[in-house]
Amino acid sequence: MSLWIVEKQEMSAFVANMMGDYRVVGPLAKGAKFAFGPIEDPADLRLDYNTSILPPKKYLQPPEERMMTFKRNGKTTVETVIDAEPTVIWGVHTCDLQAMRVLDEAFSQGYPDAHYLRRRRRTLLVGIECREPCDEHSFCKSMGTLSASRGYDLHLTDLGETYAVDVGSEEGATLLEKYSRARLATEGDMQRLNKVLGAKWPRFPYKLEFDVGELPALMRQSYNSPLWDELAQDCLACGQCTLVCPTCFCFNVYDEIELNLQDGERRRRWDSCQLDEFARVAGDENFRKYQAARLRHRFMRKGRYLIKKYGELGCVGCGRCARSCLVDISPVGVFNDLHRVKVKEA
Ligand code: SF4
Ligand code: SF4
Repeated sequence: MSLWIVEKQEMSAFVANMMGDYRVVGPLAKGAKFAFGPIEDPADLRLDYNTSILPPKKYLQPPEERMMTFKRNGKTTVETVIDAEPTVIWGVHTCDLQAMRVLDEAFSQGYPDAHYLRRRRRTLLVGIECREPCDEHSFCKSMGTLSASRGYDLHLTDLGETYAVDVGSEEGATLLEKYSRARLATEGDMQRLNKVLGAKWPRFPYKLEFDVGELPALMRQSYNSPLWDELAQDCLACGQCTLVCPTCFCFNVYDEIELNLQDGERRRRWDSCQLDEFARVAGDENFRKYQAARLRHRFMRKGRYLIKKYGELGCVGCGRCARSCLVDISPVGVFNDLHRVKVKEA
């Protein structure tokens, strides 16, 4: 599809024009950090944010949601509840776009998840090309998510006075046509875009000491590595790393019953494989009793299990887990340590 240009001074009107038809959300300043939230004033939208505390996946898989209500007045009745407001998410970084592809696969395969899929169908994604690394923790270049050619409805690149807008879907084209005063890019705009994209690559360092294509095999070979026990000595089992991760999607389902013991609702909320009770089952058995096993499971999912099952790696290099871990356990550190051991043994 063609490339379009929106003047920066017209972005606020573009956002404001769609606010009557959609819930519009995007990155907002939150103290010294940024968080995705509802846009009430388009001037608050911070497309220049570095990273967000939680990824925008929270609009597709909310931290907590009601799934159904039930009544037991003689005969039991059940009503599915799906909250799926038409939403436009502005300012999704390319790593988070890729993470949503992982979620799309996970929630579509096996038993398709009606809650996620209804929301996903009603959500439009406006991506933004990062021109600088978020900070020292991001390793998107190593994970192949530094740029995106799909997975968005519109994708913006900051060209200084204007944004270049790539259209990724029919719905994106409609957004542009209906709410903006975009013009077709000229030859000069294309040259500027190429210059901006060319200049960004050297600014991002490779953090992995090997090619990411080798990661699944490395993880398979590292299943019995002593590193898992070593990391477990430090790990606090707090679960923070999984809660901020854009590709983690595990949840816990539970029922809440009214005092009348007749009415209730089924809910679910994010869960973490790093918590002791995650794998506790009937009879008080725990099939991942030790933190070493839980850490290994987390990294196996990131580097091996998800690509085997869904065709996409489970880590997109956003660095949020490393940023939030109090004891400095990071995917880059773990993957490189495992790689160094393999090189030494070869
Ligand atoms: S790796 Fe870090 S963030 Fe994750 S559970 Fe352990 S201490 Fe918490
Ligand atoms: S494992 Fe860490 S770096 Fe990788 S996607 Fe999840 S939060 Fe981001």
